Amino acid sequence: METKRFHIDPEHMDIDKIREAAKIIREGGLVAFPTETVYGLGGDAKDPGAAKAIYAAKGRPSDNPLIVHICDYRQLEEIAVDLPKTAKKLADAFWPGPMTMIVKKNSKIPLETTGGLETVAVRFPSHPVAMALIRESGCMIAAPSANTSGRPSPTKADHVWGDLKGKIQGLIDGGEVEIGLESTIIDLTEEVPMILRPGYINQEMLEEVIGEVRVDPAVLGTENVHVKPKAPGMRYKHYAPKGNLKIVTGDEEKVIAAIEKMAGEDEASDRKVGIIATKETKERYTKGVVLCIGDRSNEDEIAHNLFAVLREMDDMGMETIYSEDFSTPRIGQAIMNRLLKAAAHQVIEA
Ligand code: AMP
Ligand code: MG
Repeated sequence: METKRFHIDPEHMDIDKIREAAKIIREGGLVAFPTETVYGLGGDAKDPGAAKAIYAAKGRPSDNPLIVHICDYRQLEEIAVDLPKTAKKLADAFWPGPMTMIVKKNSKIPLETTGGLETVAVRFPSHPVAMALIRESGCMIAAPSANTSGRPSPTKADHVWGDLKGKIQGLIDGGEVEIGLESTIIDLTEEVPMILRPGYINQEMLEEVIGEVRVDPAVLGTENVHVKPKAPGMRYKHYAPKGNLKIVTGDEEKVIAAIEKMAGEDEASDRKVGIIATKETKERYTKGVVLCIGDRSNEDEIAHNLFAVLREMDDMGMETIYSEDFSTPRIGQAIMNRLLKAAAHQVIEA
């Protein structure tokens, strides 16, 4: 199939192009589009055929539910049952924005879209292109990240193009996304709301609005690798580059020395080795190919660059990759959650 690429400047949107892309969705086709978190692969959320096509294009297991994207709070009321009071509070505080709520669903959303679950994940994105596409399509848009299943999520249109060209009807190229990490997922069907996937909106920010919030222990740190995550998608290998990624933690000097030593050994045995470093440390390495993920004190920058750096390592054919760790205060939990999954929890203490 031919994939039509639309170039749309988010600041001066060409509404005719948006309408053309929206029509594809309305007619059951798939269009990838930018959101403020990562690129999504969209189809009509009420159409079981569109959901199946999304799973097929991504190579995604069909028990891994999709997030339904809306552009008006009333659409959440239209598809939810027993909506708790916390939903409105969270929506007022964080929508449009990078937060997804899980609520009980009615029959308007088919089980194909929710991977067989009686609950549905819903988000109101803030990206102007995403909002316009949803509005013009007249649909709610089911959209997981627009990557081949298992690969790092796409933060640029070219990432999507590389993964899905020829497998979907359309791609809206709206430039690089802003945040670069997927939305925070909060499950409101639990007695105490629970974060199933950490993101830019962290536990503290959520607690300020609705009181106590728990975090699914399975998505934190390395201690809980054997705990089964509640979000089906967090159970699969994900975000992973093709090379063997290891995270090195500990005191900065020791981390640098340990990575230098291991990278030297890899090079000696003819393995292509990449190093993920920060502005503060990148000049310190003499071995391997060093990619800078950003300024250590700027967590937004690190989040923004993480997936692109992992993909760049793939493009260069790196066989072994070492990364410093980034347990930063505000969104470090989200960054480390993705990095640990990408590394299949291989952590080396320096
Ligand atoms: P993606 O948009 O590719 O990041 O994938 C959506 C994520 O939301 C996956 O991790 C899903 O498992 C999760 N998710 C979607 N719907 C539900 C649901 N009803 N219950 C739990 N997790 C969900
Ligand atoms: Mg995904």
